[in-house]
Amino acid sequence: MSDDLLKKVISHAKEYGFVFPSSEIYDGLSAAYDYGQLGAELKNNIKHYWWTAMVRMHDNIVGLDASIFMHPTTWKASGHVDAFNDPLIDNKDSKKRYRADVLIEDHIGKIEAKIQKDVAKAAQRFGDAFDEAEFRSTNGRVLERQKQIDDINSQFKAAMGAEDLSAVKQLIEELGIADPDTGSRNWTDVRQFNLMFKTELGAVSGESGVIYLRPETAQGIFVNFLNVQKSGRMKIPFGIAQIGKAFRNEIIARQFIFRMREFEQMEMQFFVKPGTQNEWYAYWKEARLQWHKSLGLGDNLHRFHDHIKLAHYADAACDIEFNFPMGFKELEGIHSRTDFDLKQHEAHSNKKLRYFDPESQESYVPYVVETSIGLDRMFLATLSAALQEETLEDGSTRTVLRIPAPLSPVKAAILPLIKKDGLPEKAREVMALLQMDHNVQYDEKDAIGRRYRRQDAIGTPLCITVDHDTLTDHAVTIRDRDTMAQERVAIDQLAAVVAGKVSLAQLFKAS
Ligand code: ATP
Repeated sequence: MSDDLLKKVISHAKEYGFVFPSSEIYDGLSAAYDYGQLGAELKNNIKHYWWTAMVRMHDNIVGLDASIFMHPTTWKASGHVDAFNDPLIDNKDSKKRYRADVLIEDHIGKIEAKIQKDVAKAAQRFGDAFDEAEFRSTNGRVLERQKQIDDINSQFKAAMGAEDLSAVKQLIEELGIADPDTGSRNWTDVRQFNLMFKTELGAVSGESGVIYLRPETAQGIFVNFLNVQKSGRMKIPFGIAQIGKAFRNEIIARQFIFRMREFEQMEMQFFVKPGTQNEWYAYWKEARLQWHKSLGLGDNLHRFHDHIKLAHYADAACDIEFNFPMGFKELEGIHSRTDFDLKQHEAHSNKKLRYFDPESQESYVPYVVETSIGLDRMFLATLSAALQEETLEDGSTRTVLRIPAPLSPVKAAILPLIKKDGLPEKAREVMALLQMDHNVQYDEKDAIGRRYRRQDAIGTPLCITVDHDTLTDHAVTIRDRDTMAQERVAIDQLAAVVAGKVSLAQLFKAS
């Protein structure tokens, strides 16, 4: 995959109404995007797949929809006011701003790429007999590069741990890191920058009226832990799931919808008995990977990245990374957050946030395992894996979006072969049979082949053609997007055939 693919995805998304730059008539707003007519459908379908898997399929998980504004003490308790910072650095010549940690990570990435190259070369040389683990642990050059990486990591960790930002700058200088755009090494000092957006509540001005746009949805769940537990008579272990907007004033937001300042999260906090968090962490790691794989977007597109450097609240954490057009990057985080958040909220609110276990007759602050996925990143993953250009047997090419059928924005296109002889009317009747259950589209313009191509390009899994025979045999032709095979189906069987292809149940069957 490559930058080229990302460009193709961006232009395809715009051309067909998936994603537009925000307020484009005013030349857009950096890193803000609007989901168009098909994008809104795809986004809803992803949400529906997540909500069904998490809430409906688990009888001990319930949903919630908390407000974006929260009492400002929430963010003091969660640690966001004091610690939700990124170290930033400016280049004095280019006036460009960077995240210091990202500059260092990219530098490490370059060393890693060299190791990868050596590994690939050796694999080619040794063929089937190649043992990658052995090569990595014995090859002198690889070991030397790995040592460089470890040294950089430990210096960076020590500097950040000691909040010594001048040591971070020194590391950047020692490594000879240059502005990726201009090559200049003329850097300012490193400063901390808080990522929360501030605003003011009502007519109150000054610090007392300051509130924040939530930087994560999780805290809306923590502060409602007892409300839900009591009103829903929930027994531990149980989970609370939520889908909603989050806001982060990212220092650099680019790569399309991968990193935005306003985005949507799908998070689930699972409350467990202290001491059982490891097994639940393992359970959710596996369950979440399975959720991704059931979509069938392709092999080798997902991998785990275990965190070595843990956040202050976590006792274990990993990411599910996806092979985006820019390479493997975080798509979802799975974190064992201990009792940190609930204890912090107890301390700041002076309210007890405890669970009384009726069996053991004891009361305790539960531990939490959370799964947190960015909806927009999931959208980008789906779109970039789905977009394909194919050469057909007759030498012609087609652009096809192989979106998993249950997620496709339009499930079926209803196409009268021609615009007369009663075919449009019949096609409308067929459409009425499906429209209540699925998003379907009617199209009578242009030759049938062109209409198929248009539907391929937006990922419609089924094209249903109404022809002259339909009027007498009460059957239609269904064309499959992926195989392009055609099949004659009786109209009274149609609803079942379409559901068999596009309902969410198909994805759960696969898992
Ligand atoms: P990153 O390291 O990429 O900044 P993060 O580790 O800060 O991400 P989390 O706080 O774990 O992210 O948030 C959970 C999920 O929310 C991420 O896995 C990602 O999918 C999504 N997410 C986070 N920041 C953004 C953003 N700026 N734009 C879009 N999605 C985001």
